[in-house]
This record gives sequence, C-alpha cells and structure tokens, in this order.
Amino acid sequence: MGQVSFAALAVPGVRRLQPYVPGKPVEELERELGLSGSVKLASNENPLGPAPGAVAAIRAAAAEAGWYPDGSAWALKRAIAGRLGVDPAQVTVGNGSNDVLVLLAEAFLGPGIEAVYSQYAFLLYGLIIEASGATARVAPALPAGQPGGLGHDLAAMRERVGPGTRIVFIANPNNPTGTWLAATELRGFLESLPPDVLVVVDEAYCEYVSEPGYPDCSRWLADFPNLVVTRTFSKAYGLAGLRVGYALSHPEVAEILNRIRQPFNVSIPGQRAAIAALADEAYLRQSRELNDQGLAQLAHGLRELGFVPLPSLGNFLLVEVGDEAGALYQGLLRQGVIVRPVANYGLPRHLRITTGLPEHNQRLLDGLARLTRR
Ligand SMILES: *Cc1c(COP(=O)(O)O)cnc(C)c1O
Repeated sequence: MGQVSFAALAVPGVRRLQPYVPGKPVEELERELGLSGSVKLASNENPLGPAPGAVAAIRAAAAEAGWYPDGSAWALKRAIAGRLGVDPAQVTVGNGSNDVLVLLAEAFLGPGIEAVYSQYAFLLYGLIIEASGATARVAPALPAGQPGGLGHDLAAMRERVGPGTRIVFIANPNNPTGTWLAATELRGFLESLPPDVLVVVDEAYCEYVSEPGYPDCSRWLADFPNLVVTRTFSKAYGLAGLRVGYALSHPEVAEILNRIRQPFNVSIPGQRAAIAALADEAYLRQSRELNDQGLAQLAHGLRELGFVPLPSLGNFLLVEVGDEAGALYQGLLRQGVIVRPVANYGLPRHLRITTGLPEHNQRLLDGLARLTRR
C-alpha cells in the first residue's frame, strides 16, 4: 500500500499553513536546560495572575464540573453587556477571542472572498483567512522610523478594499508592534468603507490603555452596523489559561456567529471567573498601573543599553536589537528569561518583551546587559 500524503488531502487553505508558534512555556525551558525560577515575558500574560475574586469563582465552580456549562452564557453576556452599555444580543462569547475571530472567518470568508489586514498585524488574521480559503490582501505597514512606524497604514488598507472584500482586520493596539490608531483616524476609516465590509477591531489590550485619543470602539457599534469589536479576558484580566473572549457586534452578526459557535465553548470556571474579574475594578487598576510602570522601566533600561523600543499601548514592547536577535533570545533563555522572537512576523531583528513584575523586568535588563556589554 502506497504511503498516503495526508497533507495533500487537507483543503488548499490548510495545506499551505504554518502553525502558530506560541511563547515558550516555562516548564519546557526548565526541562530542556535544567533551570528553575525562570521568568516568562513572552506571551503578554498578566504577571499578577487572576483577580482574587476570579480565583474564588474558579474554586467554587469545581464542584459543578460534572455539568455542561450554560451554553448561552446568559450571566456572562449580561455582565459584559451591562458593563459596556450594549445589548446582550450583541455579545458572542468565545474560547478566548481567538475563537470568535475564527468564527468570524468561518462565517464570512471562503474561496473567492477577500480579507484585508496590515503587515506585522497579529499573526492569527493571516492564518484564519488562509484556512478559510479566502484571499488575504496585506497592506504594507507604515515605514519604520516615522510616528506609528510598523503600525497599520489605514490609507494603504483602504486601497486594498475592493468588491470582493468581506472583512478588514485591525488590531488596536496591535500585537506585536504595540502601535495604535487614534479615534479620528479609525473613525474616518470606518466612514470611508462600504457598509457591507465588516471591520473587526481587535481590542485585546484595551483595558490597559489610558492614552487620550485611543478609541473605545464598543461605543461606535450603534453608528457602524458593520463594526465588530473583539476583546478578551486573557490579557489585562489575567485569565489567559481559562480561555474566555468575546465579540461585540450588530445582533444579526452575533446571531450568525452563534449558528456555528460550539454550544459549550466557554467552560463553567471560565464563565464564572470572567464575571468575577469584570466586577473587580481595583484589580484592573492595579494591573494597569503595574503595566505602566513596567513599560517605563523596560523602555528606560533598554535605552540605557542602546536599544530603542517602539512606543506601545499594550503590555509589551517591541524592540529592534539587530542581527543578533536570535542569539540574544537564546542567551536570555540560558539565563532563565523567556522573551518572544518575532521573525515569524517578518521582524527578524526585533524581540517582543512582555512587562512583568519589576524584579522580572530587571532580570531581563540585567540578562540583556550581560549579553550585549563587552
Ligand atoms: C492575545 C491576543 C488575542 C487572543 O487572545 P485570546 O487569549 O485568544 O483571547 C487576540 N488578539 C491579539 C492582538 C492578541 O494579542
């Protein structure tokens, strides 16, 4: 019997795909190098961990693990809607916001359809567009060295929107660049588009942002029925391991997404912890303050070492370290510090560093100093 090529059996969009490479887990590093006490600044996780109320909710939910979750996520959708001043019918919950992004691609993309995103945008967009069989139109990013450099160029993105375009993906702020779009620019872009082009604004980091001029797009849903906003409990809410995210949209878009959503895509602990996290304003404030401090500490320390990070509204910094980026990444690993190489984004000279606790940030800076000072 001849050897079957299963890769050749996959649908064309999947055949060409490279899998998403996540940040290196601490356990893996420590197993490989025989280290302990390492720190991970590689996956934009909240170094505070979950809010105390969320931990209590997870514990309490353990006793109910024998039951299926509420498939409609009634209480969670109401909590999100109440918090943001939208209707629960506008909320679609997901197993992380990754899940709702996939649902959008499954529902609205396919062969013969186009989707637009920016160079250096969050990697997932390209992946889900390809997998759906749709065609990606990638707009070049703003040139490095100018304000917003490496960020989304809305004019270039607008040019790529044509009759076949069904979705435009925008990350605000963007991962891995940390760059962002101001309210006036983004609103102008939305106004310039035909109403049958869905604009997905991925606000995974919005809870960290206090920058004036940064738009909370959840407030624009009534003005733009084609606007979809995605958010997550993985980043500022510190629940990355539980996988809870959501989309805000026109109720009809939500209804479409619900047709293909797995009915139990958010677990009982996930739903409960997310509700508890939403109620904990103090924790969110603390997370934001810690991140602001971390960004300042990292930016200052990096500059002292001769590196210039991009301004960032996320909980991470992108910094150009040069041809040695791969070697620096490896050298940091040997010192028990995990950062994120971004060559897979087409940025082989950069590293992405997540803000950690002050002592973690210092370890990164000390480690980098050891590797770069001679
Ligand atoms: C982390 C991230 C997400 C997805 O996070 P989930 O854990 O799936 O909610 C989505 N978009 C961007 C830009 C991100 O950085």
